Amino acid sequence: MPLEDIKSRIAKAEANAGRAPGSVQLIAVSKVQPNERVEAVLEEGHRCFGENKVQEAAGKWPAFAERFDGIDLHLIGPLQTNKARQAMELFDSIHSVDRPKLAKTLARLAQELGTCPDLFIQVNTGEEEQKAGVMPAEADAFIAECRALDLPVKGLMCIPPVDEEPSLHFALLAKIAKRNGLQGLSMGMSGDFESAIALGATHVRVGSAIFGARTY
Ligand SMILES: *Cc1c(COP(=O)(O)O)cnc(C)c1O
Repeated sequence: MPLEDIKSRIAKAEANAGRAPGSVQLIAVSKVQPNERVEAVLEEGHRCFGENKVQEAAGKWPAFAERFDGIDLHLIGPLQTNKARQAMELFDSIHSVDRPKLAKTLARLAQELGTCPDLFIQVNTGEEEQKAGVMPAEADAFIAECRALDLPVKGLMCIPPVDEEPSLHFALLAKIAKRNGLQGLSMGMSGDFESAIALGATHVRVGSAIFGARTY
């Protein structure tokens, strides 16, 4: 589906929810996509992209950044502490802060680098064993811990279980954000971004609906 169609669906969802036009940021998830497809979206003027692996992003985005101004790159996949420095140098936002060890590493590196990407704390709303993210019951304490480390926490992120109604998870994430005074909500993907917007998403992460299916 062309980028313009996704943008107009986002605009419609914003209007339906009584939200201001432009209050939702579209992160075009370019992981695994061939460079020609990514380039086509850059040529259309879009600048906000998401990747889930540091290595893969490091292999393609520096070259794009030389040719296109104003790229805004978001890490949406798990981050190992030994790649934290590289991630902080490459990305403008990190959506996968999910454990104290990583938070402490980011805080130390932020001191050293004098800057830090915008951070989102990932919450494992479905309490799935294989999934990253802090458990909902531990979210308040972890948010407080990150704030005590002076980290720039902008919001929360979740990836609902594939076999459950996503809106329940979006509502839970919104509730945790609200009681912690956080504005940012990174939630909603190709199949469910409109319901995420209805429940307050500020960042939707849309891949296949823009670029087509990923072939691994
Ligand atoms: C791949 C990915 C997306 C995009 O998924 P689509 O279904 O292709 O829109 C969104 N968020 C995360 C964390 C992802 O890894």
